[in-house]
Amino acid sequence: MAQTLRILHVASEMVPFVKTGGLADVIGALPLALKAHKHDARVVIPGYRAALQVAKHHGLTWGGHTMTIEAGGVDHTVGVGMVDLHGVKVYFIACNELFERDGIYGPSQANDYDDNARRFAVFSKAALALPGYLGWVPHIVHAHDWQAGLVPALLERGFNKVLPATRSVFTVHNVAYQGSFWHFDMKLTGLDWALYNPLHLEHYGKLNLLKAGIVFADRVTTVSKRYAQEIQSREFGFGMEAVVSGHAYKLSGITNGIDADVWDPATDTLIPSRYDAKKLAGKHTCKERLRKDTGLFAEESPCLVAVVSRLVEQKGIDLLLDVVDPYILAGRMQLVVLGSGDLALEHRLHLLQARHPGWVYAWFGYNEELAHRIIAGSDMFLMPSITEPCGLTQLYSLRYGTLPLVRYTGGLADTVTDVAAGEGTGFTFGPADRGHFSSTLDRALGLYQHFPAEWKQAVKRAMAVDNSWKHVADEYIELYRSITFD
Ligand code: ADP
Repeated sequence: MAQTLRILHVASEMVPFVKTGGLADVIGALPLALKAHKHDARVVIPGYRAALQVAKHHGLTWGGHTMTIEAGGVDHTVGVGMVDLHGVKVYFIACNELFERDGIYGPSQANDYDDNARRFAVFSKAALALPGYLGWVPHIVHAHDWQAGLVPALLERGFNKVLPATRSVFTVHNVAYQGSFWHFDMKLTGLDWALYNPLHLEHYGKLNLLKAGIVFADRVTTVSKRYAQEIQSREFGFGMEAVVSGHAYKLSGITNGIDADVWDPATDTLIPSRYDAKKLAGKHTCKERLRKDTGLFAEESPCLVAVVSRLVEQKGIDLLLDVVDPYILAGRMQLVVLGSGDLALEHRLHLLQARHPGWVYAWFGYNEELAHRIIAGSDMFLMPSITEPCGLTQLYSLRYGTLPLVRYTGGLADTVTDVAAGEGTGFTFGPADRGHFSSTLDRALGLYQHFPAEWKQAVKRAMAVDNSWKHVADEYIELYRSITFD
């Protein structure tokens, strides 16, 4: 029988405890999928105030003693909380002076905390001290994004003597976020100053924690195959391209899956009516309810088009705002938007809504239930991202028969095929400019209006695609085994 692997995931977010983006969905689902394959996967995240509040509802317990974690000559007392989430043990690194605050990364989405280098250095060290604390030695430590970027470096440099055979995997969920700090923060890492050089931790005159993860991990992954290629180029590398291509020998892309229990129109209790590919009437009910609840006119039946997104430049929202007016005026589409982030983008969306009462609805903030209702009740989902490491919302949309219109980049290119190619599941466009986006939107709305039978076939094909974690977990297990010795 194949050996049971022990895997410790180190990450800064996890559903259902704390979420700002897709990373949280991945950490909420991958360990469970590994467990379903009979592996012992566990997770460690920071004990943010909000995360501990949620954890209390999941039976949070506290370890009998604390750990002392040093960073830059200061000792931090760290408590270890634990929740058993459907058989996966989740540990919380609690530290009053670092995590007992309102925010996750900063006081607002636009601002970071000044002491983030310290916060995540202490978190990374505590994560590596955890096996000693628990008496549980993992085969693999799987670190995610810059917040855990020090973990592979500390492991390789022997920070934890009880882990000589433990190997590391580092996943880059978004190369644009790098954890870049001034050089004096080197002392927080506990690593030798000699490593502060361009081949290791220094990047253009700063300490770079994403680079630490890439350089020192035994294997590096990104969240789609195409993104693994893209981030080796200047256009998509955000200055990290040379580092990534220099370590391409150990890099691979593994496309994210979706939590098929949470995102399933046949069982989803957050939507007004359940449906599947054989019985699509429920989707129609979801659409009618969504229009009613959002005050969109319901007399005619234009294509209902959705956006659920962080409102940041990366997501191509500007492009969308530049293009949609004529299609709305022509009565060809209605638009419903759920998002939060950049205030300038929110302002432009407010104005769009004001220009088209009854045709555009925008809700600002984070709302899980509304996200489900929008994805279920819409006909089409827009994702004109400038870059997109993987993207999850297009995968949810496929499952809900809401055809995605996406830019051909990163994970979007890996997961959506254009109906023009014959057996497609959505619409794709190449260059991120108004012309290409507009002509693709025109083509998609044309199919919806004039070829309902073809549209319905595409909906059924989209709903049949299996993007569940089950298969994705196989790819990770193969990767773990390739670097595990005993
Ligand atoms: P990213 O990680 O870049 O934000 P992804 O598509 O990978 O993009 O993941 C985004 C996740 O966040 C999805 O689960 C999506 O449903 C959710 N999401 C984004 N914005 C909102 C919002 N305003 N309300 C509810 N869920 C949201």
